[in-house]
Amino acid sequence: MLKKLIQSLRSPLRRAPNKPETPAVIPRSQHALEREQISRYALSVVDRLEKAGYQAYLVGGCVRDLLLGVEPKDFDVATNATPEQVRAEFRNARVIGRRFKLVHVHFGREIIEVATFRANHSEDDGEEDATQSARHESGRILRDNIYGNQEQDAQRRDFTINALYYDATQERILDYANGASDIRHRLIRLIGDPEQRYQEDPVRMLRAVRFAAKLDFDIEAQTAAPIQRLAPLLRDIPAPRLFDEVLKLFLGGHAERTFELLLAYDLFAPLFPASAEALARNPDYTSRLIRQALANTDTRIREGKPVTPAFLFAALLWPALPARVIYHQEQGLPPLPAMQEAAHDLTLEQCRRIAIPKRFTIPMREIWDMQERLPRRQGKRADMLLENPRFRAGYDFLLLRESAGEQTGNLGQWWTRYQELSDSQRREMIRALSLEDAKGPARKRRRGSSRKRHAPGADKPTQGTDE
Ligand code: ATP
Ligand code: MG
Repeated sequence: MLKKLIQSLRSPLRRAPNKPETPAVIPRSQHALEREQISRYALSVVDRLEKAGYQAYLVGGCVRDLLLGVEPKDFDVATNATPEQVRAEFRNARVIGRRFKLVHVHFGREIIEVATFRANHSEDDGEEDATQSARHESGRILRDNIYGNQEQDAQRRDFTINALYYDATQERILDYANGASDIRHRLIRLIGDPEQRYQEDPVRMLRAVRFAAKLDFDIEAQTAAPIQRLAPLLRDIPAPRLFDEVLKLFLGGHAERTFELLLAYDLFAPLFPASAEALARNPDYTSRLIRQALANTDTRIREGKPVTPAFLFAALLWPALPARVIYHQEQGLPPLPAMQEAAHDLTLEQCRRIAIPKRFTIPMREIWDMQERLPRRQGKRADMLLENPRFRAGYDFLLLRESAGEQTGNLGQWWTRYQELSDSQRREMIRALSLEDAKGPARKRRRGSSRKRHAPGADKPTQGTDE
């Protein structure tokens, strides 16, 4: 009897396979992470929680990035204190949370995010849990607020490299999922069964691609295998969440590589269906335009210059406009109203998938409108356009179109010169335009259908006229 009891206590069968209850501990001497590299505010949050008797660790992206020598975007803390207990410890703390309840501790402009250890919930979650968690019939987790211990917290995280905990007091790393080895081998690997983890939260497919691009890692074979098949699950994700994710995909400084991976894994079409159609119809031009826009965005971010999502969305959707313009013209609308209708339809359609807020769709459409106005430079128009607050973005967009191969009659170059010259020289340029117009038979021809005005090979919206 006693022998049996001792045996059962020792029995390794009590452990679920692949779920070690004790983490691998990486002592200070065996890792490159230094306390000094960590935000002093994050350290102070950890110290404070520990002094109050709780466990607190740095976790996720900051540990991963520091081990890789990348500067972390932010510092996240995981603790066994509940959000209310965390809030009670700090004066500048706020409980927030759309999907999860979290605490934000504010230090001037820096925010330290503190999350309570949570557990994965299994398919057979009991009655009690039903109020805390909910699952869609597809297996997607709708709410996820079940607290757990640290080991459970590690298992419910997405990738092994995101499940490392840094114990700032003892300066050691706790590794429950073999993340340190995957960091060494530069691999993105889901914790648990990939298919199930994507079904629980299809956004993890986007995260896999985002981290692969950002860190220049490979996606491990089993983690990669189900993505193409499951990519359509993204269509069920609420549009506001997809908007947040898409910004992270394209404003992280590695947008061009991210775009390549999105295409390779069939993840682009569920996010931007109309652009994906344009890509299939007119691959060279569409791909050049989008890639160039993303490469410019990456460069600007590297140089610390501001980037606006409006410009990015303007570029991503622009190649999808012509098909809609043509449709409205065939319905009998003249070119300009057809363009307006097309822009309206496309924006509405896209926002059903990705909830782009009005503060970005309005300037996006103004950038498009500018493309119609930039060719019209007669009289005082050019000077009025220069004064327009959207001129700069519109002009940059024109250059982008040209770099993708659109024929605009050197309009970009004209505007570049115009901005550099004195008043009297500008007058001269405008006079030269009138002369050109008077000479050429172009004016009549340009009255034709907008389709005739398309540049060869470039499927694009109305070109605008020099009238
Ligand atoms: P970065 O901030 O550099 O984009 P990160 O890894 O910190 O990367 P966050 O989105 O800030 O990413 O998330 C913090 C941590 O929360 C992640 O490292 C991961 O452990 C966990 N996490 C985030 N989103 C998910 C998800 N959809 N499923 C499972 N775990 C997640
Ligand atoms: Mg983070």
